[in-house]
Amino acid sequence: MAQFKGGCLCGAVRYAATAEPIFSGVCHCTNCQKHTGSAFSCVIAVPKPALSITGRTGEFRHKGDSGKDVITTFCPVCASRLTSEATVMAGVVMIEAGTLDDPGVFEGKTHIYCASAQPWVAFPEGAARFPTMPPMAG
Ligand SMILES: [Zn+2]
Ligand SMILES: [Zn+2]
Repeated sequence: MAQFKGGCLCGAVRYAATAEPIFSGVCHCTNCQKHTGSAFSCVIAVPKPALSITGRTGEFRHKGDSGKDVITTFCPVCASRLTSEATVMAGVVMIEAGTLDDPGVFEGKTHIYCASAQPWVAFPEGAARFPTMPPMAG
């Protein structure tokens, strides 16, 4: 079991999870680009019951590719995006790896929505690259 601990930029929101990650990946979709203000987002997915959050969070919903809601949580004070949940993946929550106390545990080996990746993005050698969403295992 891995331990994940982190929080937002201002420290008002903290979270912790002890879990075997379900998957981790770098998402180059245009929604993540817009929402992070960057070129991609880095997420580690864990079972939702494993994650505990302390502090008040805001919630934002938008439609994913599937047409179903994606729910993101953020700190209402400093606006750091902390987690996202795709309602198509019930029981799974994705932690934004950049908010971990030790973001170095994240390995950017799986890249999704590469069709909208920025042209200057260099992929690590041996990285798995999918043009959109990879077919779900299981
Ligand atoms: Zn904050
Ligand atoms: Zn995305």
